[in-house]
Formats: sequence, structure tokens, C-alpha cells
Amino acid sequence: MCLASQAGPSGAVIIDSAINFIQSLLATSGLEQQSHTFALWLFFAGCGVLELCISILICTPIEHLWPLTSWSERNPVAADVTYAFVVRIVLFPLVAYFEFSWLSQQLDGFLFAHAITQPSLTTLIPGLASLPALVFFANFAILDCADYWKHRLSHRYGWWYGIHSVHHAEDQLTFWSDERSHILEDTITYLWLIAVGLAIGIPSFQFPFLILGLRLIASMAHSNTRISYGWLGDHIFISPRFHRTHHALKAAGRRSCNFGTALSWWDQIFGTAKFNDSTIETGDAGAEPAMVTGSWAAQQAAGFRRMVRLARRAKKTHTAKVAS
Ligand SMILES: [Zn+2]
Ligand SMILES: [Zn+2]
Repeated sequence: MCLASQAGPSGAVIIDSAINFIQSLLATSGLEQQSHTFALWLFFAGCGVLELCISILICTPIEHLWPLTSWSERNPVAADVTYAFVVRIVLFPLVAYFEFSWLSQQLDGFLFAHAITQPSLTTLIPGLASLPALVFFANFAILDCADYWKHRLSHRYGWWYGIHSVHHAEDQLTFWSDERSHILEDTITYLWLIAVGLAIGIPSFQFPFLILGLRLIASMAHSNTRISYGWLGDHIFISPRFHRTHHALKAAGRRSCNFGTALSWWDQIFGTAKFNDSTIETGDAGAEPAMVTGSWAAQQAAGFRRMVRLARRAKKTHTAKVAS
């Protein structure tokens, strides 16, 4: 099956070539039967691992040469490695395959059958068709805005903060911490971003790379470094200093600020930006120890327990308000 024909521009042609190459390699190994699905999975997993390698290559020397803080004893790194594995090798390729190969085909078929034109930035503003780089960046900014609101709402509702607090429980914030997230929250995040991506007509071959772009900037924003992006840089991108304020002990839960993932514009536009804060210590005082230093499974279970606890508390408060 030719993906380029359904996905359109040159980016999809490059992906097609890469997948054909992987398929030919699989064929020589006697794996022809499931080669297309397997080749897609290998391709996206490879892209995820490549992005992780770029993060490691940029952030490790920065954290080593210009650290913001140091710890006498490091928390176990096994959970960090598990999060990276789960996200890059399992979750991201699964989402990319689902969105790229299955969902977009279903949507294309539905739109064609009902003679509906797919809404997109280029159908809305035809002049943008000749500026693919600008369209790519605009799609990136819209997805980033969607992620800002998802993040902000996760601090608004108790049950949601219960699972989101797995991310906030980290008291040794490093670039690895970006991946630290509850599997339920990852599911909400990806479903939300896929829905927004489909609604604004992001080409299916672009979507996985926009997600990787968000993740790369977010990894850097979690770095344990005193390096600054400067006044202008901080007002465009989410810098380590800006995001560390979001992870401050005093900012856990509803009192938080700086919700952005890649661009700090949304915090500035919607009034939640806090610059010039000098937070060093991070964490969430309400998180149980298993959520801070436990294994991946222990952190996930603790997040689930806290979600149930906070949901029950909210229900009791609501019932008491109605009764009074
Ligand atoms: Zn948060
Ligand atoms: Zn974070």
C-alpha cells in the first residue's frame, strides 16, 4: 500500500521510502506476512528512539556542565528508563500507527463517501498552501495550545490531578522527567491531540513528527540546568527555568502556573505566566513515597489510588455543598 498517495506531500514520500526499505529488510528475514504493520511500527519506534537520543545528546552535557542543583543520592533510574521505554517503544509507535495508518484512512473514507472537504489551515487560508513550513509551525502551535489547555484542566479537577501528580511527584527534576506520566493521562493526552489534529486537518504523516517536536522541547524544559534562554527566548519557548516554576512545591495542584509545553505564548495570553521565579526544589508534598521513588508500576498504582481519593473527596465536598 502506498502511503504517499493518501498522505500527499513530499514528507509522506520520504516515509514511504523508509518503510519500503524496512519491508525489504523484513522480507529477507522471512517476515513478509506482517511486514507492513511491523515496518510501520519499527519506523515510528526508530523515530521515537532517535528523538530520545537527540534529547540525551543535548541535555546530558548541559546538565553536567551547568547544573542548577545536585543531590547527594540519586533516586533509582530504573523508573526513568522504563518511562522512556514505554513512551518511545510502545506508546508513541502505537499512537503514530493508529493515527497515521488506521484512523486517517477511516476519516478519509468517511469524508469521501459524504463528499465533505477535510477542514485544514490551507483550505481556510488558501495562500498558505505555498508555505508548507509556516503551515507546519502553525499546526505545531495549535497542538501546543491544545496541550496547554489539557494541562491546565488537569490541575483544575481533583481526579485528574491525582494521575497528573505522578509527573509532579518528581523531586529530582531532570530532562528524563518529561516522560514521567501516568498511563491514563498519556491516553487522555494522545486522544485529545489526535482529535485536535483531525479537526484542523493536520496531514497524517506530519502528526507524529509534531508530537516528537513537542517532546524534544519539553525534555529540554525539564533539564536540571541554570542555562537561560534569555528574555526573548523565555518569551517564545518554555525554558528550564520557566517550567521549573510549574514544578515548584508551592505550585503543586490548583495553585500552579506556567502550564505550557513548548511555547510560552499561551501562558502569557491566558494570564498564567510567571517569569523570574527562582525555584530550585521541586515535588508535591501530597504525593506518597511510592509515587516519588517507587518503580514504574508502584508510581502508576500510587497515581491511580490518588485519583480515586481525590475524586471521592470532591464528591463529598459537592454533596455537602448541595445539602447545606
Ligand atoms: Zn502540571
Ligand atoms: Zn513537567
